[in-house]
Amino acid sequence: MPAVDVNRRRYELPNQPTVIICFDGCDPAYIRRGMADGVMPNTARLVETGFVAYAQAVVPTFTNPNNVSIVTGVPPAVHGISGNYILDRATGERRMITDARLMRCGTILAALADAGVKVAVVTAKDKLLKMLARDLRGIAFSSEHADRATLAENGIENVEAMVGRPKPDQYSADLSLFVLEAGLHLLRQRRAELLYLSLSDYVQHAWAPGEPEADAFNHEVDKLIGQMIGAGALLGFVADHGMNDKARPDGTPNVIYLQEELNAVFGDGAVSVICPITDPFVRHHGALGSFVRVYAHRADPRAMMAATAALPGVELVIDGKAAARRFELPEDLEGDFIALGDAGTVIGSTRAEHDLSGLSGHRLRSHGGLAEQTVPFVLSRPLNSRYAEIATTRPLRNFDIFDHALNGTF
Ligand SMILES: [Zn+2]
Repeated sequence: MPAVDVNRRRYELPNQPTVIICFDGCDPAYIRRGMADGVMPNTARLVETGFVAYAQAVVPTFTNPNNVSIVTGVPPAVHGISGNYILDRATGERRMITDARLMRCGTILAALADAGVKVAVVTAKDKLLKMLARDLRGIAFSSEHADRATLAENGIENVEAMVGRPKPDQYSADLSLFVLEAGLHLLRQRRAELLYLSLSDYVQHAWAPGEPEADAFNHEVDKLIGQMIGAGALLGFVADHGMNDKARPDGTPNVIYLQEELNAVFGDGAVSVICPITDPFVRHHGALGSFVRVYAHRADPRAMMAATAALPGVELVIDGKAAARRFELPEDLEGDFIALGDAGTVIGSTRAEHDLSGLSGHRLRSHGGLAEQTVPFVLSRPLNSRYAEIATTRPLRNFDIFDHALNGTF
């Protein structure tokens, strides 16, 4: 079989159209409810005819590290993307990760394209595109900027005409559906043989499993998944992270403002707390997640770690080196220590740094911690015997999805 080697893993070239979807923020609870309530009939069918399982996402359970792991097949220790937002220790500068400059390896997509496979990447948000399409010779565009796609920049033009409607609002469920519809057209027109379609978690941040808005969205996604399988695709989907309710019984966000807490004990300016979920393009979670990096400017980090661990709602506190080992993260980008909130708690920096107005009456739902690590792992075909065996011997990771789709199915 012709194959390519990428980051020490081997991938056979697709022998049929193959679609991999990152179902952003799709907690397994949405799939369980969706299948049980008849909202996701096509996915439910795959329990019999395909492979439906759980896998472990990368911690921190955020969008960027997981999307980049999925397209590279390796953990952040290898690819270098461990958050959306980082503090550069060398310069003291805080910055958003919006391009591929910090990526330390190539992608499965670019390697397959170089081997002659027609590849397409479609994302909901434009901010992810540069990383996912790193060095890719193929089609790459976002629904957010679908109106601006050009042959020279994106390998495609007239995307809105292809999909048959104008691009949706940036803050809508529809932004993700547009991604899937575009994928379906590319598939039917045979313009791509391998597609990576990455959605947004707008819906999951706002609505819990079983709520009408979540059901309506998941039903549409499931319908488009059915249509792609019907169009002859081998289809797989995983999520980048799960999602949990992080509000108190009275509806207010259940937040620990860690920089305030620590500076109150250790003195003003004692620490910087960096929230790697921070994202100026997204307003529905107030930059509040369940994973933060702490940089100690004064005092002993161990005393700060003990003070952090004593706060109710904190699930885990470990130093940067241990975090890098345990979660396979780039050690040079770690803080002095990390703190993780439990399933019902988010950790922020200071009140001033988090704008909660974007929650607009919703209970806060978010991710980033260990409670959001389990995600669905679904294929439209059953695993072959070798991969069925592998699945019983080691935990599946969400970034095994290309390996399993290309090498591991009947
Ligand atoms: Zn996400």
